[in-house]
Amino acid sequence: MEYRKVILPFEKYHLPEKRLPFALPPIVKEFNYQVISGVYRPYWNKCLCGNKEFDLVASVDKSGFIAPLAMCRKCGMLMVNPRYSEVFYQDLRMHKHYFLTFYGYDQPKEYALAKFNPLEGSDIFNLVKHGINIDTQTTVVEISSGAGWNLIPFINKGAKVKGFEDDKTFVEIGQSLGMDIEHLPVNNLSEVDQAFDIVIMSGVLNRMFSPIDVLKKALTLVKDTGIIYIDVPRLNYKTLDFRLDWFYYFSVDAFRFFIAEAGLKPLEVRLLDDRIAGVFRKEDFQNSKYLLTRSRIQTYKSLKRLRRREVWRFSKKIKDLNDVPIFKILDKID
Ligand SMILES: [Zn+2]
Repeated sequence: MEYRKVILPFEKYHLPEKRLPFALPPIVKEFNYQVISGVYRPYWNKCLCGNKEFDLVASVDKSGFIAPLAMCRKCGMLMVNPRYSEVFYQDLRMHKHYFLTFYGYDQPKEYALAKFNPLEGSDIFNLVKHGINIDTQTTVVEISSGAGWNLIPFINKGAKVKGFEDDKTFVEIGQSLGMDIEHLPVNNLSEVDQAFDIVIMSGVLNRMFSPIDVLKKALTLVKDTGIIYIDVPRLNYKTLDFRLDWFYYFSVDAFRFFIAEAGLKPLEVRLLDDRIAGVFRKEDFQNSKYLLTRSRIQTYKSLKRLRRREVWRFSKKIKDLNDVPIFKILDKID
């Protein structure tokens, strides 16, 4: 696999000027150093559409971590490619500065408590209630629920709610607040022997190595009469503020296409400020490959517009970027 051509040739490195890493956080320096010295190796991955040819869009993520953002030449999907193995991401999550770097809070507990506010989960609730009636008989499960903050509007409606969460700290916080949160990694979803009226997956698929496989597992939790709510983050094209542990950035069209590929019919899909969200029912329907073509055209357009705006000026300061020699790394990959 390879990059066919660099569509945004921002000198050697691709980083917005305002984010020049004059003082890269220690966690970034540490991991970048280990990547450069070969402790962690990046691996190529096929796109969700099966294509193996990509354009390079950016080389480091919003924090300065070495992480190439690539665009699939066939469907326009933006993805971190090549990306690291599971070990890298485990080590990253275990790092003492991980939480502060990615969530802006020192401790998971502070973050979780801040998320328990009246607004959290209301977007999800408002979209879901268009697809299904919610009352005291309704069963709701959130996959990767954190401490359960998104479930509060459903509780307020009297629904029976449950959360599955991989992070034990969030499980404990949720339980201490009286929520029904169970420790269950996303990969073990097939162990669940129960079906629900509403299944919620908020910001989950973009973090999965194989999102469509995970989605198919999640569908076994949806009753035939039930619905599934799914959202994925939107990439801000102006800042390209992607993070190395969120692997996929869908366009609306690609989102519609790939979700339908898993056997879901869209009831409603919305474009929100920071995400694409939709509610779906299990039902085969005519999917269209044209969505992928349209997705690619749209992505190219957005990226070209970005280039014209010339917000990417850092060539004069390239000397200071010796912490980020991404191309040296990529040269070694076959
Ligand atoms: Zn693709």
